[in-house]
Amino acid sequence: MSEEHAVVAQNVGKIYGTGAAAFTALGDISIAIRKGEFFTLLGPSGCGKTTLLRCIAGFETPTSGAILLGGRDITGVPPNQRPVNTVFQSYALFPHLTVAENVGFGLKMQGKSKAEIDAAVERVLALVKLEPFATRLPAQLSGGQQQRVALARALAPEPEVLLLDEPLSALDLKLRKAMQVELKRLQTETGITFIFVTHDQEEALTMSDRIGVMSAGALLQVGSPHEIYEKPVNRFVADFIGETNFIEGEASAVGVEIAPGVVLPVTGHGGPVTLAVRPEQLRIGEPGAGLEAEVKEAVYMGTDTHYTLALAGGPQVVARVQSSAGPEPQVGDKVGVTIDAQSVQVLSE
Ligand code: ATP
Repeated sequence: MSEEHAVVAQNVGKIYGTGAAAFTALGDISIAIRKGEFFTLLGPSGCGKTTLLRCIAGFETPTSGAILLGGRDITGVPPNQRPVNTVFQSYALFPHLTVAENVGFGLKMQGKSKAEIDAAVERVLALVKLEPFATRLPAQLSGGQQQRVALARALAPEPEVLLLDEPLSALDLKLRKAMQVELKRLQTETGITFIFVTHDQEEALTMSDRIGVMSAGALLQVGSPHEIYEKPVNRFVADFIGETNFIEGEASAVGVEIAPGVVLPVTGHGGPVTLAVRPEQLRIGEPGAGLEAEVKEAVYMGTDTHYTLALAGGPQVVARVQSSAGPEPQVGDKVGVTIDAQSVQVLSE
């Protein structure tokens, strides 16, 4: 594998248990994570993302396949001999040690000198903006501050790769958003490869350079947030990332027919297809412009309003329209709906 890859998983499989109790947590995962990348493993609970992360950390041994770090096969190397550190959801700080002692703990175990430890602790506490808290105990910190200490502790030995297993899920929404920005900044400043695990698609979209979407032990798609959102490879990815309207239709040479006589100028391969259309890609206008529809429901969300629309002779779809001061469609109104054909994804499965 090439030099620019920090971590490579080659045909990694993981089966827990044996015989009738055997459970395949990872099918056959191959993935190449670039050096200095913020890579997110995203998927629903139980899809195997933590198992893959633990295989990279060395806490689990793959049943088949290999893990390479910087081009070296480390599949059988114990966790403490890998240039990798993990930040867990539970901060797992030592309650009787101060912030500075917690952060320096790993370095002390490595036998580093006091001067080296002090310098590293000072450096990483500055990185996570916790210098004034060096002498406090974990119990004297907020949840967000404790998570920063856990981060500082993981960063102190300057690992090549930092693994983060849902590290923000214990924080409230506002703090989580602030920490997302903070994590991205830390990753950019340190240049360390981050592999982040989450089931929160918004978190994945806002922070990652690339995302790997997983389901039932398989990797379905790897791409930039933009690619994953705009060009989902299948229905699962389109459904899991953001909101999507799925419209069944029949593809022909002229387009996809979604209701008798209603053909969208979208290229399909012929036969039954599913179209994925994001709610923001639907425009609501005057009746007569575009597809005929009736407003069935309007839900005001502050910045935008979600309209449920019944297309004449066709399915119901949801449109998201930015709120404005002007007149807004009401339930029962007949409207015209236009769909940006270029943004429509034709899904084959
Ligand atoms: P979550 O977001 O809930 O943590 P996940 O995607 O990280 O989910 P994993 O923890 O990787 O999922 O688990 C994948 C599957 O493997 C799950 O169905 C889980 O029950 C199973 N599993 C995990 N660890 C073990 C184990 N030690 N023995 C048996 N099965 C396990």
